[in-house]
Amino acid sequence: MKILVPVKRVIDYNVKPRVKADGSGVDLDNVKMSMNPFDEIAVEEAIKQKEAGKAEEVVAVSIGPAKAQETLRTALAMGADRAILISTDETVEPLAVAKLLAKVVEEEAPQVVILGKQAIDDDSNQTGQMLGALLGWGQATFANTVEIDGDAATVAREIDGGLQTVKVNLPAIITVDLRLNEPRYATLPNIMKAKKKPMDTKSPDDYGVDITPRLKTLNVSEPPVRSAGIKVEDVDALVAKLKDMGVA
Ligand code: AMP
Repeated sequence: MKILVPVKRVIDYNVKPRVKADGSGVDLDNVKMSMNPFDEIAVEEAIKQKEAGKAEEVVAVSIGPAKAQETLRTALAMGADRAILISTDETVEPLAVAKLLAKVVEEEAPQVVILGKQAIDDDSNQTGQMLGALLGWGQATFANTVEIDGDAATVAREIDGGLQTVKVNLPAIITVDLRLNEPRYATLPNIMKAKKKPMDTKSPDDYGVDITPRLKTLNVSEPPVRSAGIKVEDVDALVAKLKDMGVA
């Protein structure tokens, strides 16, 4: 069985994003970029399934600029076997990503595609679901545990206030949530080994997919600045203050 893991290069989760002065987007110049944290969890899960003997090959794929190679090398250093970069400098929205991934699925014929539940830059939470729809495959989103057995996967999903367990026939789409696992760090020897692992480079045109954006960003703005708080002496003063403000 083959597992495909789409990984996105995004602004590092530790970086405080700065909005461009003209409000057209987030400033990415000289900003640290990393693999989307949910995709690290997806890669970890795929490798774990391989280690458990449930899969023979893990293929990582990224759609983005040439620098997304680094993201793919990280996936290879974690343990993926091979990588595909679909190289483009254009903005690629979830629908276009899903269409490209559907073509990769046609070519690679994986049994499972494991994606992050969302990319932390656009917070879309759409790609896995759209890919499922395009392929006509079942999908189990927000995975908290994944059990692959024969031609089905049992997935506990994180839902409001608890877990819902679903069984999905393979081939299927799984999107992963935060608590599924703790991704491993790539060790230095594995980083060295990853340099020799195969990476194919393609373009959206190779797949005949039109990636023209369907959305227009009208404005991006910083969250409103919170006004400073005040200190009160004791609970009585707090209650009096709240009454004063008309909130108690
Ligand atoms: P989103 O729908 O944008 O929130 O992304 C959900 C998931 O789709 C991510 O966690 C990735 O697994 C995958 N994905 C989204 N964009 C890309 C991309 N450009 N390249 C590879 N995978 C992507």
